[in-house]
Amino acid sequence: MKLAMIGVGQAGGKILDRLLEYDATRNTGFVGHAVAVNTATADLTGLDHVPERDRLLVGSAAVSGHGTGTDPEIGRECVREDLSEVERAVGRAATSETEAFLVIAGLGGGTGSGGGPVIADRLGEIYAEPVYGLGILPAADEGGIYSRNAANSIQRFVDSTDNLLLFDNDAARSTGETLSEGYAEINDEIATRFGTLFSAGELEALGDDVAESVVDSSEIINTLGDQGLTSIGYASETIETEDGGGLLDRFLGSDEPEFASGGDATNRITSLARRATLGKLTLPCEPASTARALLIVSGPPSELNRKGIDAARTWLENETDCRAVRAGDYPLRNEDRVAVLVVLSGVTDVPRIGRLQEQAADSEAEAERREKTSEEAMQDLIEYGDES
Ligand code: GDP
Repeated sequence: MKLAMIGVGQAGGKILDRLLEYDATRNTGFVGHAVAVNTATADLTGLDHVPERDRLLVGSAAVSGHGTGTDPEIGRECVREDLSEVERAVGRAATSETEAFLVIAGLGGGTGSGGGPVIADRLGEIYAEPVYGLGILPAADEGGIYSRNAANSIQRFVDSTDNLLLFDNDAARSTGETLSEGYAEINDEIATRFGTLFSAGELEALGDDVAESVVDSSEIINTLGDQGLTSIGYASETIETEDGGGLLDRFLGSDEPEFASGGDATNRITSLARRATLGKLTLPCEPASTARALLIVSGPPSELNRKGIDAARTWLENETDCRAVRAGDYPLRNEDRVAVLVVLSGVTDVPRIGRLQEQAADSEAEAERREKTSEEAMQDLIEYGDES
């Protein structure tokens, strides 16, 4: 599916950069065009894959290229101030091929959190194509301000997009690692999951490998619907051949690869669908609260068996309580892994968001308490001054 992508703020820009790299190395072609928007010059300079002409500094009159200091109100104002510039840059990016827009932002900071929904809103007014958000939730230990920013931004993003796809930094990080040490790995995970989803609708990239039952862009658009939150599950497995090497080793060598039997391929697909749905989701949630679901199986053509995809679809229909789960395959000839991607769209049972809102309310109450204490201390000082 051909997307015009807009990365807003530091996390938004870095993830856009990583998605561009993913798209270019695999030749999938789902990024039609991209724009990075930021209030901080240094963040724009640090990008590797977004062309210079597509990097846009906003709000320089207000913050002189120094960023917002995690204040979404400033982020919102900076983007509003230069909204016509953003429109022009996105206008250069959008072509007749664009099927949807994707606004990517970290929800815990200032620029992406505040500015992302402003951009999504405006694109929704200008274009007929759907506008999606890809929002990054802060880790729980990043502190109250990040949670408060994210809790407020989620609501604004949901209101301004056709669907908000969420990725939780907290759920993704490995134990013992600080968040910033883990960003490269987390961003790889984001690129794999969202790259797999958006490649699925890019049929031209498949060449002669026409999938048995393709997932096209309209199925992705119908699954995402016109409002709500989406979580993505993913699981993959390297295919071992009898000599212990991966399937790719055999493709690259002179011998013919040993293909798995039909039964093995079916079992592999159904067990990967279970692992994808019940394992780490981009947004931890209760699968039974899903409104619409989609299942994509990718891998070497010999492993994509119809029976397996049908069985996995039936299992997912039961697990999500959705009547018509869409399902299809995406053959990748030079791949030695089979992967299953599960899209859970319109999820409503999301305890993580409840906790985020509680954390935000606690941090709000704490800020008010501190303000009151310092006002009282000031009053005491004034009274003491008057008495003496
Ligand atoms: P902004 O530039 O003001 O929009 O602020 P950031 O984009 O830095 O937003 C801060 C949030 O984004 C925090 O919750 C960080 O954990 C998260 N974040 C920052 N950089 C990255 C990154 O490269 N990857 C991911 N996954 N999250 C990031």
